[in-house]
Amino acid sequence: MSNEQQVRIYNPSEEMVRNAAVSGMDGYRALCKEAEDDYEGYWGRRAKELLDWKEPFTQVLDQSNAPFFKWFADGKLNVSYNCLDRNVNNGLGDKVALIFEADSGEVTKVTYKDLLARVSKFANALRGMGVKKGDRVIIYLPMSIEGVVAMQACARIGATHSIVFGGFSAQALRDRIEDAAAVAVITSDGQFRGGKALPLKPIADEALSLGGCDSVKNVIVVKRTGADVNMVAGRDTWYHEAVASQSETCEPEWVEAEHPLFILYTSGSTGKPKGVQHSSGGYLLQAVLSMKYTFDIKPEDVYWCTADIGWVTGHTYITYGPLACGATEIVFEGVPTYPDAGRFWKMIQDHKVSIFYTAPTAIRSLIKAADNNPAVHPKQYNLSSLRILGSVGEPINPAAWEWYYENVGGGRCPIVDTFWQTETGAHMITPMPGATPMVPGSCTLPFPGIMAAVVDETGTEVPWGQGGILVVTKPWPSMIRNVWGDPDRFKKTYYPEDFKGKLYLAGDGAIRDAETGYFTITGRIDDVLNVSGHRMGTMEIESALVAHEKVAEAAVVGRPDDVTGEAIVAFVVLKGARPTGDEAAKVIKELQAWVGHEIGPIAKPKDIRFGENLPKTRSGKIMRRLLRQLAKGEDVTQDTSTLENPAILEQLKG
Ligand code: ATP
Ligand code: MG
Repeated sequence: MSNEQQVRIYNPSEEMVRNAAVSGMDGYRALCKEAEDDYEGYWGRRAKELLDWKEPFTQVLDQSNAPFFKWFADGKLNVSYNCLDRNVNNGLGDKVALIFEADSGEVTKVTYKDLLARVSKFANALRGMGVKKGDRVIIYLPMSIEGVVAMQACARIGATHSIVFGGFSAQALRDRIEDAAAVAVITSDGQFRGGKALPLKPIADEALSLGGCDSVKNVIVVKRTGADVNMVAGRDTWYHEAVASQSETCEPEWVEAEHPLFILYTSGSTGKPKGVQHSSGGYLLQAVLSMKYTFDIKPEDVYWCTADIGWVTGHTYITYGPLACGATEIVFEGVPTYPDAGRFWKMIQDHKVSIFYTAPTAIRSLIKAADNNPAVHPKQYNLSSLRILGSVGEPINPAAWEWYYENVGGGRCPIVDTFWQTETGAHMITPMPGATPMVPGSCTLPFPGIMAAVVDETGTEVPWGQGGILVVTKPWPSMIRNVWGDPDRFKKTYYPEDFKGKLYLAGDGAIRDAETGYFTITGRIDDVLNVSGHRMGTMEIESALVAHEKVAEAAVVGRPDDVTGEAIVAFVVLKGARPTGDEAAKVIKELQAWVGHEIGPIAKPKDIRFGENLPKTRSGKIMRRLLRQLAKGEDVTQDTSTLENPAILEQLKG
């Protein structure tokens, strides 16, 4: 089924093309060809150029135990050394690494030299507590300088960190501590969000008391809010006391390239979270390369990724990629709506941000806010410092893309719609800002060196223009190495037997444009709808709904139907108040007619329900698996440990 909305193509400016690391489509194609002709050579050359190795590798890719691939396996390096020492050694010691803006608006700047000293002190403190190479350390911290320092300090001593987002419950924290068998937990007394001080240490205490956490020998507590906390003698230490007398130098632990840098649990959009294990060398290589190619990072840029360090985006695109490139970046403690929904735009203005990377969920909520209150519209701010915009986490619907492009980017800045996953470690399919003509809603073409394809159930590539399953046909350096402690789950989930164990299964559906070959993500594999024999991605219907002037956000799922096989159920958030009664009935008719007109009568939702919000993971992704249960009229019985707003489920029942 073709979308009748007119497709508009947006080209990067000539200036952007001229100055970008990947310059023009010829530049892009040359890189792709280099990788096709000599795959290992392509990655091997970049690994030598872009990373500092203590011991050079002699083999690029080891496939002997596929799908447990190894990259640069006999090389040794240290990730923290690559992010800090080498920048200081290259004359960037006095360059600002982090611009930390607190919830309150207070700004603290940390230079590369300062950051190295802070990381070294904390790394020494951890070593002093007996934390050593290979030990797992849980980090349960808000967005903070200490959060970045803690990650880097673990990397420095070869400890494997696992970050648990500061919004997670005691139970979710406990589960991750137990699964990782962590020896230490780094937390804070509390955190500031939206003008409120929220507790963290009490939640960590509760988690540790739930059982299964005997592996934890040390709890280190950062003082942030000044709230009273209970310190357990012999187990708990204040961070500031632990680092006070430590040396500012710390010899890095040189680790094998395959050494696990971190474990991170997925968002839980499609099921129980998986402990994704990442490497050191291959991971860092793609973190750096994508900063260069996708974000075109330059020495003078001020870069801001709004993700939390609790998500993979905060790992690759806050803690590791930008620092390994010697960039200046913003670390933001607060929320986009405090003190008002102009916060992001004000911060871009104040700090002269040139590269801005955020999520569609944030954009959609800020569109809604700006529609309701012109004072927080991005047009009220000077955003002329921006040169590149990014989007990640979910498909961005064309209406939101266009708003972002016009109102935030001033019609001047390319948007890199970056498709990737916790498991992929770095960008997989994305425009290159100085090359790729952009089509709103499409993540366009694979990152140079990534071999992506759309296949059918047998693993055979489908023709362009036909929807199917997104796969990656060759291993890549920053890929997931294992599901922590569960190699069987790793194989079954990502290299299933259906594809003879040869193709990486992303879990997303995709379609390539019949002419350009551009990829559009159509939703999770299990989100493909089949209505009277017509296959449709949920995304297409959602985009049509959101293109309606009254709609702020929409999620579409299928429900079994006797007549049509599946019926379409839409959960909708309006820009105005949530309608009820006759008003709701009227808007439902209007939206059904609208979708019928935009896509075709077959795509008209049979059932439309209104909520003040949608059930989302704490990283802002819509949890369609819960909506599927609600659509069927069932009570939700699935894992909701990562659900942000449980109360919303009640509102969306039929
Ligand atoms: P789980 O694997 O536990 O269900 P999750 O898939 O939500 O959780 P993440 O790794 O945080 O966990 O998210 C990756 C997914 O996010 C992708 O598989 C895809 O569905 C979606 N995604 C991310 N970026 C984009 C994008 N630019 N366009 C479309 N979809 C995207
Ligand atoms: Mg996933």
